[in-house]
Amino acid sequence: MRILKYLLLVSPLVLLSSCTLPEPSLLGIQPVAEKGGAKAPPKKKPERLNALHNADVDHLPFVQATRDRLEYIRANVEGRYCALTFDDGPHPTLTPKLLDILAERNIRCTFYVVGPLVRTYPAIMKRMVAEGHEVANHTMTHRDIRHISVDRMKTELGDCHKLLVDITGQTPLTFRPPGGGYNDRLMKIIYDDLGYSTFIWTVDTNDWRRPGVDVVTKRLINGASPGAILLCHDIHAPTIEAIPAAVDGILKKGYTFVTVSQLVGLEKQGNVKSAPNTRAVRQLAYFGPGAL
Ligand SMILES: [Zn+2]
Repeated sequence: MRILKYLLLVSPLVLLSSCTLPEPSLLGIQPVAEKGGAKAPPKKKPERLNALHNADVDHLPFVQATRDRLEYIRANVEGRYCALTFDDGPHPTLTPKLLDILAERNIRCTFYVVGPLVRTYPAIMKRMVAEGHEVANHTMTHRDIRHISVDRMKTELGDCHKLLVDITGQTPLTFRPPGGGYNDRLMKIIYDDLGYSTFIWTVDTNDWRRPGVDVVTKRLINGASPGAILLCHDIHAPTIEAIPAAVDGILKKGYTFVTVSQLVGLEKQGNVKSAPNTRAVRQLAYFGPGAL
């Protein structure tokens, strides 16, 4: 059964939904051989001279959320920190291109990846971790967890978790539900099973709708706010095209990019007593920026 799922996911006819799609759509990732296979990751590219750089954040620990704060729509931090997140990869050509763009600017991000692609592109996964990014769980087959059994959900998450640990050596700390489908009961089960908090997003670029490079750029720059979690997908070429101007625009606004678990750590440093009003923000997250 696992082999069947794997074949389904890496075939050109793979059916995976975008994070914000209620129904599955064609992902269209063509499996290709990785250059260098599972060898050690390439050396870091030198940062650009005379260009905008992210502050050095590698000293900030990845912190696991506690049970009283299972759901993150945004982090409750006052400083200009935000987390850029990419879902549904890794993609064999677009993700390495994205990693080049991020490395030039010393930017750290979070990647919510799907298990079979992790298994197919281990060198890309190792490179992510070597370059300071956070890897996180986006299940094996990208099904809406509300529409499968609890046992199946646990297998989806558990298998992806094991792959990430085995291939990257990094233990994932967070989960993002495919399609944004989840509820309080499932969040508690997931936390009890794997210790994961559930990360949604503050700003949805809706990049999978292909709104155009400029629109994605604008949504990201306008969406940056303290503690914001920005959602993109690294499986769409126009998204990768939008990233240089978008991250430079956010850096110009004085923001520092951190990973989602670094945001958790920053929130805890502030001794936050209560979570923000996530119910209201959840509504916004579901319907996206729209007016931008
Ligand atoms: Zn997704």
